[in-house]
Amino acid sequence: NVLTLGLIGGIASGKSTVGRLLAEHGAQVLDADQFAHQVLAEPEVLAELAKRWGDAILTPAGKLDRRQVAQRVFGESPEATAERRFLEGIVHPRVRELLKQALRDYAATGGRVAVLDIPLLIEAGWADDCDLVLFVDAPQSARSDRTSTRGWDSAELSQREQAQLPIDRKRSRADLVISNDADLATLEREIAELWSREIAPRLAG
Ligand code: ATP
Repeated sequence: NVLTLGLIGGIASGKSTVGRLLAEHGAQVLDADQFAHQVLAEPEVLAELAKRWGDAILTPAGKLDRRQVAQRVFGESPEATAERRFLEGIVHPRVRELLKQALRDYAATGGRVAVLDIPLLIEAGWADDCDLVLFVDAPQSARSDRTSTRGWDSAELSQREQAQLPIDRKRSRADLVISNDADLATLEREIAELWSREIAPRLAG
């Protein structure tokens, strides 16, 4: 059966990078963001969104106009919060189904290690589906540098993080911690070590 590893950590701590490195050791990464993209292209989903928000949220080609959606769901106003909940209520259950199906398919083809890269994995209730939860630990300063390329300053980073479970509480939910406070070569070594110490023995045993 499949050993399921969940990734958690602060924004830009390096979760996706860790997933990519684990994939080099043979794991399959299941990325919730990719599934969410897929869901937001489904005709039934687009129809539901257009019913609530009008055809203005569709491009002339009938695709989702992401800027129009962002205008309705971003921000902390009660209206935006309500619209965001509406959107999540449609998208999250479908993403969950697609992820579960992908896990079953992976198991059916003899896969051994699945990595779940899911934003807010704990908050979204995935911890019980994971054999191991891995916390990617990077100091706020490094994370702030890494998000500066997204045009966020450190204030924006902390504002976005306030919407999440406090970082110390996240860490306390983890079975394993990997630190990503140095360069990528160091992270590669850390992952290789983690694989041989924590993952390979579980596959053999
Ligand atoms: P998010 O919270 O947005 O999902 P994440 O936790 O998945 O982000 P990544 O996307 O893996 O984080 O990393 C954020 C950025 O920092 C990427 O551009 C990545 O290449 C870079 N990065 C990650 N680790 C390191 C490192 N050790 N040294 C330098 N750059 C790094």
